[in-house]
Amino acid sequence: MTTDLRIKDFKRIVFFTGAGLSAESGIPTYRGQGGLWHEYDWETYACQKAFDRDPAAVWKFHNMRRAAVAACAPNQAHLAIARCEALLPDVTVVTQNIDGFHPLVGSRNLFELHGSLWRVRCDTCGAIKDNRDLPFEDLRCGKGWWRPDIVWFGDHLREDVIEGASKAISACDLLVSIGTSGVVYPAAQLPRLAQRAGAVTIEINPEPTPMSDAYEVCLRMGASEAMALLCQGLDV
Ligand code: NAD
Repeated sequence: MTTDLRIKDFKRIVFFTGAGLSAESGIPTYRGQGGLWHEYDWETYACQKAFDRDPAAVWKFHNMRRAAVAACAPNQAHLAIARCEALLPDVTVVTQNIDGFHPLVGSRNLFELHGSLWRVRCDTCGAIKDNRDLPFEDLRCGKGWWRPDIVWFGDHLREDVIEGASKAISACDLLVSIGTSGVVYPAAQLPRLAQRAGAVTIEINPEPTPMSDAYEVCLRMGASEAMALLCQGLDV
């Protein structure tokens, strides 16, 4: 399916992005063929219990993920999204990705629902800091431990982040969802807010998803190709 909808014709735009956006950069998605959780057990590497048991082992896994992301680069679709924000008055990015590619290419009006691989936080003293060490080895923060500032299995999303994202999505007139399977909750339900508010909704995903019915238009193609189509008329 194609479309004659164009991003330049809307006033308040939200891009809602998932792992499929970064698939064209070479970062594997979690689900589907080659997905990370086929190879690694999240109970050993990606939950608070595992970290409390063995912080060094959990950091070893996350350092490997940092290295994998650092070996890749943002793609044309990340760049097009950042250009839309630079060119248009009201563009917000709500992402489930933790790879940090959106901020890297200049997206500023950004909600990282699941945090970032490139931030660490200490749950003992409450400190949060940006950190791009590769590998990250300075694990102790005073009496506590630095952990990756990402949402692991069983963690709650930050309230201010989910609230900000929900507000932007409820107020948009165009929601473009890119590369998300729509099965990770509560993030997956956010596009419904745009649908209920009467916004135009577009799904970019080569495959149908359990959320496809929330979208008026489904573009069954990769992220870069679809963004090039939707950005026609803009200098991206
Ligand atoms: P997912 O892995 O569940 O689904 C990825 C989706 O992307 C699939 O529906 C797939 O069909 C689609 N896709 C594949 N190639 C595409 C392309 N070229 N263009 C557009 N779409 C494409 O990802 P999700 O829905 O984001 O949920 C997974 C969770 O995994 C999130 O919580 C996220 O934090 C995390 N995750 C993040 C990264 C990252 O930061 N890059 C990578 C893997 C997983």
